[in-house]
Amino acid sequence: MEKTFQQSIDDLKRFYNFSDVELKILEQVDRAAEELSLSEFEHHINHEVNPEIPKIAKKYNLLGIPIGKEYGGYGANMLIAVLCNERFGQLSLGFPTFYDVDVFIGALSLQRWGTEAQKEGYLKPVVRGEKVLAFALTEPDVGSDPPAMATSYEKRGDKFVLNGTKYLITNGSIADNIIVFAKSKENKRDITAFIVDTKRKGFSVEMHLGAKIGLFTSDTAMLGFADLEVPSADVLGEEGKGLHVAYSALLNGRLGIASGCIGVIEGSLNAATARSEERVQHGKLIGKHQLIQRHIAEIRENLEMAKWPTYFAAMRKSVYDKNPADRAFMDEMDLRTALAKKIASRLAFESADRAVQVFGGFGYSLLAPVGALFCDSRVTRIYEGTDEIMELKIASKLLGKDFEAFT
Ligand SMILES: Cc1cc2nc3c(=O)[nH]c(=O)nc-3n(C[C@H](O)[C@H](O)[C@H](O)COP(=O)(O)OP(=O)(O)OC[C@H]3O[C@@H](n4cnc5c(N)ncnc54)[C@H](O)[C@@H]3O)c2cc1C
Repeated sequence: MEKTFQQSIDDLKRFYNFSDVELKILEQVDRAAEELSLSEFEHHINHEVNPEIPKIAKKYNLLGIPIGKEYGGYGANMLIAVLCNERFGQLSLGFPTFYDVDVFIGALSLQRWGTEAQKEGYLKPVVRGEKVLAFALTEPDVGSDPPAMATSYEKRGDKFVLNGTKYLITNGSIADNIIVFAKSKENKRDITAFIVDTKRKGFSVEMHLGAKIGLFTSDTAMLGFADLEVPSADVLGEEGKGLHVAYSALLNGRLGIASGCIGVIEGSLNAATARSEERVQHGKLIGKHQLIQRHIAEIRENLEMAKWPTYFAAMRKSVYDKNPADRAFMDEMDLRTALAKKIASRLAFESADRAVQVFGGFGYSLLAPVGALFCDSRVTRIYEGTDEIMELKIASKLLGKDFEAFT
């Protein structure tokens, strides 16, 4: 088992009672990450989406970790899904971003809001690794302010007809089903979540977003919906209450992002430490220069600061999920997941930056693994709620609803 990953498990064992099944899942996670490391770096260098990511998730049976046994999953604590993303985050954010959207956001939303028929038809195949999910909220002109979305729907008989464009959608061109948010043409306050089958007429991948400054191995696409028909049986949650679906999905999503960030910090620490013990300048190992030791100490401190709010939020989330109607608990989860994401993403980017500094000129290269962590981690301060939105959320939880400076 990889050392820092084992350390996380050992630390947690002091107060979390892992089941035998959970420990076995974590062994599988570690093996799967080892296998993904063989292809992930090469695809990063070539700026390509890594097709091995969903295949390895399926091969090692990782897609049902937090999903109930009745739907083919393990029913494990959210902490185990968090540890899964942590381990893969040591390589890059390619896998954690895929897994965040497919499982943390997608599968868990189907489990929470889906009808039994939707769980049968859409959730179970995702858990088996036969289908991939995406989540389409953002548009070219609308990101932090979802209620302003332009994608529309119209009810025609027992169908809904969707029109619009969604932008920056992870897994967008590899997904079989996409949770798409659209606004009623009749009542502009009604936003509904739809499960869209990407084989339907009217769906198109308008553009693959390859010109990113990192996260090359993760699929990001712009999607078009032109008079696309969705049967009313594929409305997710209540009609007009799509934002409830979106915001509850993002509570899980923030945990998925925070946990990938813990992995980035571990990857940065491992690489910076190894380099400090190899590279000689001014007649001694650079690790013997105290200013290099400061970088290592700071990354180690970052790891400690990122881990515990994320683990705590994950454990609380598993308790909350048993009674999601509890309004006060939901507020607590909104705060805890925002804290975890904001803290972990800032510290991941800072740690990767420090690791690049320890590597010197070679660090500023696509050929250095720390370069991948640096490029990939920047986006964590943007997607699924920017730093600024997280800050506003955290402050308003303390000041009260009247002080909410965002929608
Ligand atoms: C690689 C990648 C993958 C993504 N995957 C997905 C996905 O799968 N599904 C999906 O729906 N979206 C996805 N996104 C979109 C992402 O969630 C948005 O980029 C993000 O929510 C920010 O929206 P925006 O880019 O439109 O920025 P804007 O909302 O235009 O924000 C611009 C700036 O203004 C600030 N700002 C906005 N409002 C306020 C305010 N009220 N107060 C203070 N500051 C404010 C922001 O914090 C930011 O700094 C992805 C993005 C990227 C880069």
